[in-house]
Amino acid sequence: MAKLEILEFPDSRLRTVAKPVEAFDAALRELVDDMFETMYDAQGIGLAATQVDIHRQLLVMDVSENRDSPKVFINPEIVDSSGEETCEEGCLSVPGIYADVSRAETVRVRAQDSDGDFFEEDLDGMHAICLQHEMDHLEGKLFVDYLSPLKRRMVQKKLEKQRKIADQKAARAVL
Ligand code: ZN
Repeated sequence: MAKLEILEFPDSRLRTVAKPVEAFDAALRELVDDMFETMYDAQGIGLAATQVDIHRQLLVMDVSENRDSPKVFINPEIVDSSGEETCEEGCLSVPGIYADVSRAETVRVRAQDSDGDFFEEDLDGMHAICLQHEMDHLEGKLFVDYLSPLKRRMVQKKLEKQRKIADQKAARAVL
């Protein structure tokens, strides 16, 4: 297993639209393992392949408190949805930023598992929000896209400042 690098906003690679997964082989299962390791290490509840620069329709999530309910969705498709819910969201690719986003309250998803078998599942609560957030990633969309252009620029500036401070700290450590 290996930890993967997570791309951060405004990296243009996060705008790539993912292609369907076609090969359900050992390499895919290794990628799924690596994505779980990366997500758990970063203390995220979901991770889309797009975020680790793999542009295939694949996402992993675990919204359980004990971090013991891993779920994999390959080539996911929302076949039904209802209601509306607003939740404060964050994202491993937009560290330290949180904002309210409105999404469907419940969704029915059709997807494939690591063996390529199709399944359908009804999701609600955090599961539904997380799935919609991660599926946005696969289409090259980020939760900050739901904000006004002014607010999005503020987010970008805040991130640039955070990175500058981190770089300075790193430079000091080298001395
Ligand atoms: Zn995200």
